[in-house]
Amino acid sequence: MLKVNANFIKLPPSYLFVDIANKVDAFSKQHPEVEIIRMGIGDVTRPLPKAVVAAMQKAAEEMGKAETFRGYGPEAGYEFLRSAIAENDFQKRGVAIDKDEIFVSDGAKSDTGSIGDIFDVDNVVAVCDPVYPVYVDTNVMAGRAGDYHEGTGWSKIVYMPCLEKNGFLPRIPNERVDIIYLCFPNNPSGVGIGHTELKKWVDYALRNQSIILYDAAYEAFITEEDMPHSIFEIEGAKKCAIEFRSFSKTAGFTGTRCAFTVIPKELVFNEVSLNKLWGRRQSTKMNGVSYVIQRGAEAVYSEEGRREVKENIVYYLNNAKIIKEGLAKAGFKAFGGVNSPYVWMKTPNGLTSWEFFDLLLEKTGVVGTPGSGFGISGEGYFRLTAFNTKENTEKAIERITSSFKA
Ligand SMILES: *Cc1c(COP(=O)(O)O)cnc(C)c1O
Repeated sequence: MLKVNANFIKLPPSYLFVDIANKVDAFSKQHPEVEIIRMGIGDVTRPLPKAVVAAMQKAAEEMGKAETFRGYGPEAGYEFLRSAIAENDFQKRGVAIDKDEIFVSDGAKSDTGSIGDIFDVDNVVAVCDPVYPVYVDTNVMAGRAGDYHEGTGWSKIVYMPCLEKNGFLPRIPNERVDIIYLCFPNNPSGVGIGHTELKKWVDYALRNQSIILYDAAYEAFITEEDMPHSIFEIEGAKKCAIEFRSFSKTAGFTGTRCAFTVIPKELVFNEVSLNKLWGRRQSTKMNGVSYVIQRGAEAVYSEEGRREVKENIVYYLNNAKIIKEGLAKAGFKAFGGVNSPYVWMKTPNGLTSWEFFDLLLEKTGVVGTPGSGFGISGEGYFRLTAFNTKENTEKAIERITSSFKA
């Protein structure tokens, strides 16, 4: 009889957002008069920049004419987009990344989830705790995670707790690990990492011949001077890191789908180039991203595109500021929100993340995400996102400050 991949059976079902939806539904039925304000979702709400839409319309027209029609494109992306990325996101910042080191894809979720294909199953994986669940679950699927134990997690995964006393930054592991997932600015905690701290990770990886898988999906939200926008700003990183970027949070592409992964040619392990290996993997398993979408992504770098993107980021960052300051006024401890659309707050009076979820919903009609849903060390914390409208964000914060007086 056919056998299914047993690794997939090990995965516990993911209930987080289903549980949230069920609780909100039940509350709405009981209190139909309360207007719910959703600040739990990690999805953007502002429309695509006009420059992007215009570029996609033009590209769609091209596809409708015999003279300009295009079939399969290059698997790693069209040269026009790879060049625009290399120039604008890296070379202009003084980081020497070549267009051949850029792989365009449909998302950073797919890329962070698939990158493990090019690594042996016996590598030891380290993740931050709390964490974006994709890194862990895809390693479970690959058979790299061991067995799941309630309370301690996966037996073969090295968890790096990100605690308040360390500014929610992970500590360098005591043991040797091979694959290190880092995400900065971080989802869910909203904190960024400075040059000095990130350099410690690069040095560790170089010393141990490990690789850092650096998820910079929120790079566009960085406002502080000393925060690197790319791990390749750190000396030596091109020999030990892969970087993931996305147009999703930057330019509102969550539904449009376009991202890219940077694999420097200097990344060579056992005399094998990871750039070549990933190129082989991608050209075998995918046929690239739609021409229309890549033209839209290219327009993100146009003068008008850049201006519009900036406006949206400023809009979300202003919401984050409203949330953070409002929470502080209500007597809560809140973190993040300065280089990120996420605010990470400590639950009051030792409440669990879910107890606070219920209390907040009951008292204010505001929905957030329980920190425990992102890992054991997320317990006792709560994530609020800046992706709602300014009006709703203000309304939510007014309700919170009047319900929870300091
Ligand atoms: C939203 C997000 C991404 C982006 O995923 P896409 O597939 O590009 O939409 C990547 N990493 C993290 C941590 C995210 O929160």
